Amino acid sequence: AQQRYSSLRGLPAQSKCGTVTSLMMNAGLMADLPSLDGSGAEGVGLFRTELQFLVRNKMPQRAELAALYARVMDAAKGKRVAFRTLDIGSDKVLPYMKPQDEPNPAMGWRAIRVGLDKPGVLRMQLQALIRAAKGRPLSVMFPFITEYGEFVTARDVVMAELDREAAMGHPVPETVEVGAMLETPSLAYAPKAFFDLTDFVSIGGNDLKQFFFAADRENERVRRRYDTLNVSFLRFLDHIIARCAASGTPLSFCGEDAGRPVEALAFAARGLRTLSMRPASIGPIKALLRRVDLAEANAVIDRAMAEGHETIRPALMDWLADQP
Ligand code: PEP
Ligand code: MG
Repeated sequence: AQQRYSSLRGLPAQSKCGTVTSLMMNAGLMADLPSLDGSGAEGVGLFRTELQFLVRNKMPQRAELAALYARVMDAAKGKRVAFRTLDIGSDKVLPYMKPQDEPNPAMGWRAIRVGLDKPGVLRMQLQALIRAAKGRPLSVMFPFITEYGEFVTARDVVMAELDREAAMGHPVPETVEVGAMLETPSLAYAPKAFFDLTDFVSIGGNDLKQFFFAADRENERVRRRYDTLNVSFLRFLDHIIARCAASGTPLSFCGEDAGRPVEALAFAARGLRTLSMRPASIGPIKALLRRVDLAEANAVIDRAMAEGHETIRPALMDWLADQP
C-alpha cells in the first residue's frame, strides 16, 4: 500500500468530477518536516508552535525562535506553512509560567486569550516569525478566536510588529497573510466584517466538535459519543462553508477528522477544498478522493439528510463500498 501511495505523491487529489482538493499536513516539530516531501503534502496547513515552548524549562529567546522558524521555512522550500501562534492554557502549562487553577481549562484562559491579555510573548513570537520570513511569504493564524474583535486586536499586533521591524530597518516578509482558527461555534456567526478581514479561516475540528457537542475531547467516556458526520454538525459546517464562500475567504479544515477517510470524503463533497492532516493520512485520503465523484457523494449526503437520519455515515459508507 505504501508503494501505491508513493506513486500518487506528485499527483493532485483530483476526483472523478474534476474537483481538486488540496491536501496539507499538520506539524509541530522539526522532525516532522521531512514528511513534507515524503507525503506529497502541498504545505503545512497547521504548524503547532507550542511544542517548542513545552519542551524547554525556560521561555525561548526571540533569536532562538527566529532561527527555528527559518529552518522550518527552509525545509518547506517555498511551500506554504501556516504558523499557529501559541496555544497554551492551564491544561498545557509551561513550566516557567505561573499555573492557573481553573475548573475548565479548555474553556479557560488559553490560546489567543492569553496572547491578548499578556501580549509580550505573542509579540516576541510574531517578531521571530517576521524575522524568519524575511523576503519570503509569511502565514500566521491565531488559535481559538471566538469573536471578531479578538481577531481585529490580534491582527493589529501583527501589523504593529511589521511596522516596527520595518522602522528598525529589518527586512520584512514578502507577503503576510493573517488567518483565524474557527474552533468555537460563535465565530461561525461573526459579523461579515470578520470574514472580509481575515485572509483565511481554518476549522480546528477537534475543539470545534468538543464545543459544538459539549463533549470534552480529553474525556474517554464522551469523546467518541457524537459522530462528526452527525447531520447537525454537517449543517453547521455547511453554514461555515457558505459564509466563507460568500466573502471569498479561503477555508480549510485541520482537525484530526480531516485525516479520516469517510470524514474527509464528506468534507470534500460538502465543498471544503483544503484539508490538513497528519502526514501518514495524505496518501490514503488522496487515493480515496481520486477514485470517487464528489458530486455523487454529495447527492448521497443530501439524500441521507433529507431522509431524516441522525448521521449520514451509513449511507456514505454503503455508497463508497459500491465504488470501483
Ligand atoms: C483543533 O482544535 O482541531 C486543532 C487543530 O488544534 P489543536 O488540536 O492543537 O487544539
Ligand atoms: Mg484547537
